[in-house]
Amino acid sequence: MNTPAHHRPILHGPIAVIGAGTMGIGIAQVAAQAGYSVLLFDVNNEAAQRALETLHTRLHQRVEAGKAEAGATQALLQRITQVDSLQALAPSALVIEAIIEQLEVKQNLFHQLEPLCSTETIFASNTSSLSITAIARVLASPQRMAGLHFFNPAPLMKLVEIVQGLETSFQTITTLKSLVTDWQKQPVVCRSTPGFIVNRIARPFYAETLRALEENIASPATLDAVMKESGGFAMGALQLTDLIGHDVNYAVTESLFHAFHGDPRFQPSLRQKELVEADHLGRKRGRGFYVYDGKEKHQPLPRLETLQEQIRPARIQATGDWGTLPHFAALLKPLLPQYGIALEESKNTDSQPPALQLDDVILTLTQGKTSAQLADEIRAPVVQFDLAANHQTASIITLSSACQNTRPQTAKVISFLQSLGKQVVLLPDYPALLTMRTVAMLCNEALDAINKGIASAEDIDLAMCCGVNYPIGPLAWGEQLGWRHILSTLENLQQFYGEPRYRPAPLLRQLAAGYVTLHLQREQNQNKERNHVC
Ligand code: NAD
Repeated sequence: MNTPAHHRPILHGPIAVIGAGTMGIGIAQVAAQAGYSVLLFDVNNEAAQRALETLHTRLHQRVEAGKAEAGATQALLQRITQVDSLQALAPSALVIEAIIEQLEVKQNLFHQLEPLCSTETIFASNTSSLSITAIARVLASPQRMAGLHFFNPAPLMKLVEIVQGLETSFQTITTLKSLVTDWQKQPVVCRSTPGFIVNRIARPFYAETLRALEENIASPATLDAVMKESGGFAMGALQLTDLIGHDVNYAVTESLFHAFHGDPRFQPSLRQKELVEADHLGRKRGRGFYVYDGKEKHQPLPRLETLQEQIRPARIQATGDWGTLPHFAALLKPLLPQYGIALEESKNTDSQPPALQLDDVILTLTQGKTSAQLADEIRAPVVQFDLAANHQTASIITLSSACQNTRPQTAKVISFLQSLGKQVVLLPDYPALLTMRTVAMLCNEALDAINKGIASAEDIDLAMCCGVNYPIGPLAWGEQLGWRHILSTLENLQQFYGEPRYRPAPLLRQLAAGYVTLHLQREQNQNKERNHVC
């Protein structure tokens, strides 16, 4: 636990936390842990008292388990004082509200507070979905108001989105950035727009798997296994929405869809809506995409390919640029001398996607066409593989095969990948498979946000790695793969579906053409703290 010895505070004065619910009590703990005095207020005195008692119990359990020091824990708890009126918050240097998510109630609260506090006091809202600009409208000096969006559970989650309303001053943002850093959290800054960074950019992560499920591409267990074991995400989207609760996740998507005036990129899933209607809300109801009856061993398994016999290709040739898939290249390295081939790893943006020719069969990274379409174009049997966070360490490789292939032609590829120690998921011939289409859409959303000045490229990748634990920031991922590949994937998907949902962001076209570049600090974008709740 962080002890505030020799600590020079960023703000001089107590931190007021209003609302002692799930978020408020967590934020109070964070501030007190960093050495600040906290004044905690809730309209419901008993609720605040209960929340404090629970915090005492939880922290003392940590002491008993040897995970925290008794003295520091006691000092932390003593720094939190429950107060029973707004007047008692007058000396606060910063007020953070974490009350009910209703615009008028929040506006009313700040309207009452402003005349009570000093002219220096900063006002912050932990709102997940309301406009900071709209909340700040009631203040005489809205420049002192910003969003301070903590994630649940606040003491564990490292990310804090600092949200800039239309009138928020640069000074307010800078102070809050220093404070959040001082609180051992990772700040990112964004403009007050629907979903801020994380809730906006993450939509395609849910949407593409939900679509695949709606299109009967595979079972929930198979789709989740692809995203987790191959895509490198901490959980598949169906497992994760079961955990979040479909009511909550669906409501966020729906609110973004409306906020963006019905943009099809944010279109909610009818399949998920039906779960909400049935009250199959996920884990909390014991039922969502999966059933939670305590019998974990009965959970459905992904559908993996099994082969009766091993088929070895007699000849392997490599084409295209393998510099964009360094982990797959590393996986192939031990085989290369045996077949007398070398991989080109130039990362030349003009070159073809990486591909292998196993005898007569072409095995290539999907670029948004179906395998059948590609087989017709190149007049050869085609198997496509999906993107992975790291093909070398992924336990699963996902494939689709052209309907023109003979079964032995497809089996040869499966057998080849199994000989490299991989399990294989063979999906129907679905354009851009699952990870590739998801990552392409995440990149597109991130680039749209940059283009509209919502946040910097660096902060977007940081937010997605720290806030939702993505294996690689979407922008770092897109850059590694090459923007042309992302653009082609989306153009092919747009053509396949004939829908504006997959329309490429203008900045993606600029990047793919090489007219502009992104300034990403690479080291920060790899999620180094993967095993921590970052
Ligand atoms: P909660 O229902 O757990 O707690 C809200 C608390 O605020 C309650 O104790 C209630 O008595 C109190 N309250 C209500 N009106 C009040 C008022 N006018 N003055 C003082 N206290 C009042 O809610 P929560 O989940 O902690 O969410 C609080 C805020 O944080 C919301 O704006 C929400 O959007 C946001 N948020 C929630 C999460 C989450 O996962 N729960 C994550 C990030 C942000």
